[in-house]
Amino acid sequence: TTPLLQVEGLKKYFPIKRGLFRKTVGNVRAVDGVDFSLQQGETLGVVGESGCGKSTMGRSVLRLIEPSAGKVLFEGKEITKLTKSQMRAMRREMQLVFQDPYASLNPRYTIAQTLMEPMQIHNIGTKSSQMERVRSLLDRVGLDPEYANRYPYEFSGGQRQRIGIARALTVNPKLIILDEPVAALDVSVQSQVLNLLEDLQSDFNLTYIFVAHDLSVVRHISDRILVMYLGHMAESAESDDLFNEPLHPYTQALLSAVPVPDPDVKRDRIILQGDLPSPANPPSGCPFHTRCPMAMDICKREKPTWKEVRPKHQVACHLY
Ligand code: SF4
Ligand code: MG
Repeated sequence: TTPLLQVEGLKKYFPIKRGLFRKTVGNVRAVDGVDFSLQQGETLGVVGESGCGKSTMGRSVLRLIEPSAGKVLFEGKEITKLTKSQMRAMRREMQLVFQDPYASLNPRYTIAQTLMEPMQIHNIGTKSSQMERVRSLLDRVGLDPEYANRYPYEFSGGQRQRIGIARALTVNPKLIILDEPVAALDVSVQSQVLNLLEDLQSDFNLTYIFVAHDLSVVRHISDRILVMYLGHMAESAESDDLFNEPLHPYTQALLSAVPVPDPDVKRDRIILQGDLPSPANPPSGCPFHTRCPMAMDICKREKPTWKEVRPKHQVACHLY
């Protein structure tokens, strides 16, 4: 069957402009060649440090940021070729949930106004049917439908994220990009919101791209995980395979920071040397070579290709 989403060779470069005439003097290579495909109902976890390009990648898929190169196909249709107005209509199928729901909720709007807005933009239903949908979605995300008449400041972080999720659902999307949806929440609230996202996924057959900097957050919800480093794909595998047998030295370092529940299992913490290099001036060869504990001579010279080294398990590293 046709994947719901196919991403091929996606790049996003931001020009660096300098001087009186704003001359382009270089590029920030935020996303530098990303490929994946996703079936309806699946979740892809996208993980990496801040600055690795994962948020820009999510926004480029939705064309909230115009990609510099590459293709995005939604249900087999190339959305990177759509006009701006065709794309606006298409956005009904694809929604984004932000890390900080407070920033995305207008403080002067009631929850009802905020949730009705996407339906108004897409001309869905009458005012009273929109209000009915708002109330039923509030109930579905675990909030009292009476909250519709309240304002964002009256809610906790976890409640606001539930409101943000309800807002994304109002237009019945197929794909939701979740950009660090629980990163700002307390750990106890995080798991409640993750459980809610899983329930909603099975109820509505939703497809998720779940962007996070923390591997442990995406482990259970993701079918597959893509690890990104400096705009590049480092490794991709089914969730359990990635945890059981991480191949890329960067994935191994990320995983070594995840606490192991079993006290008998010892995992040495791998501390990475140095900071994330600037995507305006990326290293030659393997983008990770400046920090990789396993780096070899070839790593400085040649960029490793993307290879499938186990079934459904791909990595970009000269060790394989
Ligand atoms: Fe490390 Fe070399 Fe593999 Fe890059 S290609 S991750 S530098 S071993
Ligand atoms: Mg981000």
